[in-house]
Parts: sequence; C-alpha cells; structure tokens
Amino acid sequence: MDAKTKYGIKGAEDFLRSVRQNEFVIYLQPKFDTQTEKIVGAEALIRKQIQNKLIMPDQFIPFYEKTGIITKLDMFVLEEICKLQKKWKEEKLPLLPISINESRHHLKNKNHIVELQEIVTKYEARTDLIELEMTENTVIEDILVAKNAAESVKKLGFIVSMDDFGTGYSSFNILKDIEIDILKMDKTFFKDLEKNERARIIIETIVKMCKRLQIKTVAEGIETKGQMDFLKQVECDVVQGFYFSKPLTIQEFEEKFLKNMEKL
Ligand code: C2E
Ligand code: MG
Ligand code: MG
Repeated sequence: MDAKTKYGIKGAEDFLRSVRQNEFVIYLQPKFDTQTEKIVGAEALIRKQIQNKLIMPDQFIPFYEKTGIITKLDMFVLEEICKLQKKWKEEKLPLLPISINESRHHLKNKNHIVELQEIVTKYEARTDLIELEMTENTVIEDILVAKNAAESVKKLGFIVSMDDFGTGYSSFNILKDIEIDILKMDKTFFKDLEKNERARIIIETIVKMCKRLQIKTVAEGIETKGQMDFLKQVECDVVQGFYFSKPLTIQEFEEKFLKNMEKL
C-alpha cells in the first residue's frame, strides 16, 4: 500500500470516528460593521473537542486536505450551519449571515453543486445568508475552474468570498475574472500597519478598488485600536478579529449577541 492510500484510509477512518463520537465543534467568530461597530455576521470555524482538550484546525485540516476527506468535513459544517439557521428561525432570533470555509478539493468535484443543493433543500436554508469562502491560493491554482464554481454557487443564491487575500501570489486577474461578492484581506496586511506607510497605501487602494468593483471588504485578524481607526478612515466595510471577539461557542455567541439584538 502506498503512502497516499494509507493516509487516505487513515484520514477517512479518523474523520468518521470523530463524527461518530461527536468530537467536531463549530465556533463562531463575529464580524462587525467598521463604522457602526454593530455585528453583521460570523465565520464558522471548526475545532475538535476531545474530553476537555480543544484541538485547533491546523492540527487536523492539513491531514484531511491531503486525504481529500476535507470535503466531507466542509459539508458537515454546512449542514450544521443550516440546522442552526433553522433553529434561529424557530426561536425567532435574528438571522445573521454565516460564512463557511471551502476546501480547494470541492472545485473540481462536479458533484459538489448537487451536494450543496441537497443540503440547503433538506433544511430549507436561506442561501443568501450563507457565504462560501474560497482561499486565494485555491483560486489561483485554476482560475477557470474557480470562475465556473463561483458562478454555479452564486446561481444557488450563495454569497461568494475570497479568503486570505494577500497571502499568496495575489493576482488581480482573479478579481477581473471572478465575480466575488466579498474580499477578505489577510491579517498579514495589518501586522505593522501603524509603522508601515506602504502597507497603509496598499490597503486603502484595495478598499477603493473593491468599492468600484462592488466588492465588500473584510479585514481579518484585527487586534488593535490603531488598526481599527485606520480601517474606519479608509472605509473598509467589515472587521473580524480579537480586538472585538475571539471565536465563540454557539451558545456563547447566541447569549452574547443574538439574544441582545432586537428581535426581527
Ligand atoms: P481562516 O478561514 O482565515 O480563519 C481565520 C483564522 O484567524 C481563525 O483561525 C481565527 O481564529 C483566526 N483569527 C481571528 N481573529 C484573529 C486575530 O485577531 N488575531 C489572530 N492572530 N488570529 C485571528 P482558526 O480557527 O485556527 O482557523 C485556521 C484556519 O483553518 C482557517 O483560516 C481556515 O483556513 C481553516 N478552517 C477552519 N475551519 C475550517 C473548515 O470548516 N473547513 C476548512 N476547509 N477549513 C477550515
Ligand atoms: Mg475563512
Ligand atoms: Mg482568512
């Protein structure tokens, strides 16, 4: 048995065992309107909980990526988010848009659109409140495939965003060819913002360009008031980061945000 097959079987076994034992837990990290600082949505981030130990995605996602089983994990997350939307509807809580991360493995899978459709139909989910995040690196691998995938999911009503923009060989061709709705600028852009004028000019220009392209901008990994003040000034639309909140359990998220918001 070659290493790949061995990994494949091991990865699949590990994933199925974790599902059976209810080890996967979804955390939600809130996103805020930059100007009003009001909550406007959240990102679903997966963790494994084994007894009292929380295992972060960098400990298992690379392994699942290698084996391809990551697609099953992403569909598991989508299904859980659809269930959550249904629960919020029933409890008459505000329905906030939630983003989920999509692995590169989905792009070439022709069955993916059918899978997405089956899940949202099963839960009568509102796809206009579900955002699918593709990473910049995924898109750059094959722009044509990514373009077709984005068009297909947009036909189902999903919001499409590009995650981790600025971590790869950022190609502006992507923005020319693919009609994404949201651009998430990676935290590395904002690291030394206060000392680095060039970084400030680049961010300001990206935000301006996105406005003209009608793409919403999200700044990721915001940790300081200085970063926040700058993003307000350049009119970036949305911020996500520890400055406001770390990722929370669903229960914490509901208590802290949804139950305090005006009922719809
Ligand atoms: P990502 O999608 O870019 O998610 C943002 C990551 O930045 C999260 O790490 C979040 O906790 C972290 N973060 C948020 N605010 C701050 C901040 O102010 N400072 C710093 N230093 N970090 C911040 P996390 O949860 O460890 O996830 C890491 C990556 O794992 C995600 O990056 C995403 O690529 C991947 N991932 C997580 N859940 C899933 C999933 O369900 N499916 C797939 N395919 N990938 C996932
Ligand atoms: Mg993400
Ligand atoms: Mg990111």
